[in-house]
Amino acid sequence: MQHYDLIIIGTGSGNSILDERFRGLKVAMIERGAFGGTCLNAGCIPTKMLVYTADVASTPAHSSRLGVDETLDGVRWAEIRDRIFADRIDLIAAGGRDYRINHEDNSHVDVYLGTARFTGERQVEITPNDGGAVTAISADQVVIAAGSRPSIPDIEGLADADYLTSDTVMRLEELPASMTILGSGFVAAEFAHVFSSLGVAVTLIARSAALLRAEDADISERFTELALGSFDEGGTQSGAGWDVRLNTSTRRVEQYDGGIRLHVDTPAGPGTIESEVLLVATGRTPNTDQLNVAAAGLETTESGLLAVDEYQRAVAGGDVVPGVWALGDICSPYQLKHVANHEQRVVQHNVINPEQLIASDHRFVPHAVFSAPQIASVGLTEAQALERGLDIDVARQDYGGIAYGWAMEDSTGFAKLIADRSTGLLVGAHIIGPQASALIQPLIQAMSFDQPVASLARGQYWIHPALPELIENALLQLDV
Ligand SMILES: Cc1cc2nc3c(=O)[nH]c(=O)nc-3n(C[C@H](O)[C@H](O)[C@H](O)COP(=O)(O)OP(=O)(O)OC[C@H]3O[C@@H](n4cnc5c(N)ncnc54)[C@H](O)[C@@H]3O)c2cc1C
Repeated sequence: MQHYDLIIIGTGSGNSILDERFRGLKVAMIERGAFGGTCLNAGCIPTKMLVYTADVASTPAHSSRLGVDETLDGVRWAEIRDRIFADRIDLIAAGGRDYRINHEDNSHVDVYLGTARFTGERQVEITPNDGGAVTAISADQVVIAAGSRPSIPDIEGLADADYLTSDTVMRLEELPASMTILGSGFVAAEFAHVFSSLGVAVTLIARSAALLRAEDADISERFTELALGSFDEGGTQSGAGWDVRLNTSTRRVEQYDGGIRLHVDTPAGPGTIESEVLLVATGRTPNTDQLNVAAAGLETTESGLLAVDEYQRAVAGGDVVPGVWALGDICSPYQLKHVANHEQRVVQHNVINPEQLIASDHRFVPHAVFSAPQIASVGLTEAQALERGLDIDVARQDYGGIAYGWAMEDSTGFAKLIADRSTGLLVGAHIIGPQASALIQPLIQAMSFDQPVASLARGQYWIHPALPELIENALLQLDV
């Protein structure tokens, strides 16, 4: 059995571990799919390239309130898709793979294109993608960066149906006329915006009474109202055009010639929903179940995440498993690329500095939903802050109350800030509206560096009349 200093399973954030400090180590890198992982090939980057396109395509829906009459002449799906994949993503993925396999920088790295599975402590067997012979290898240290995959719910008929997931929907040959999206989280919300903006009739099926339920309740409520299209007092930034079915569970899926039929239970009774294609967007499952982790003496949490400590070391039965590290979606409940990258930097440091371990910082993990409208959030929701017994003050500032909001005629967006009266610090920030993902950054910074609300609001200039005045005005309302 070939022995290495280090095995890395997965080339998402795992691919960034190897820098010049690792040149002295003999390394095996294993990848079963496209180099670069989910974010590059089927996640953050292609979705946001599509969202940008969708934002442009949907401008006619917002322009008439500004006195501008626009129409969308059409979209060229093949060009939209190929701009993303053929012209950019696939080249980067292939370049990354070739660099690892062929470049002299990587003469200390053996790349295995295949599927890894543990057979013992720090022992792995690899089934090659090309159908060749299984190879067994071992190492002093193993980094598990094997990510997650779309969860497929256990619904009668679904397994036999020709359904799409986030892995496949962006590479469709042709735009369908209609699409049912199963799910109510961020992936469902982003794709609903993308495909409805491109002219697809989208039906969104949510089992519960609201969309994006993990968000602060006010944000989830506003987003749901807008998606339902019930917010019509000038609220034209809505996801108007989505057919949103709340409190709807899917009992059976049936493929028929030309489409897919869902048999659903709704508050009004049983019914059917038909569309040309079905996109399943009901969360993601960590890939631990495919790695035979028990053979390596590793443990998983109730939700299937690999158990790790704050130094990203694998732990089992409360003890550290020597020489095994993990990062990203395989072990992180956040399932976000910036978290995977942060944990990758922690693992990178700790593997080569075992005497000076550093811990991951998960205090203030932000996220954004790139839908219509955008959402961004960091820290506690109001409900979480109250559950913790914090003495909080909550401020809410509408986009419609600031000058740039007037320019945009925005009547639906707002920022909601939550501060702890006892410390004068922010504990949560939630924004729904244009550019939310950019507007939230000074608040992430303030929380990360313990900057009090008062100095954040008045210790700097805020450009007038720019969109960040939304944040300035919200901060000034806080009584802390
Ligand atoms: C549609 C979508 C949109 C997203 N948008 C965002 C966003 O806007 N912002 C954000 O922060 N995050 C976003 N994410 C999440 C983000 O993509 C992930 O959190 C991130 O890619 C996780 O990185 P990772 O390195 O842990 O795993 P991955 O990037 O998934 O890498 C794991 C790699 O391991 C390989 N692998 C798995 N099992 C094996 C095995 N047994 N043997 C060999 N190789 C294996 C896989 O092929 C894969 O290449 C999005 C995800 C999706 C699906």
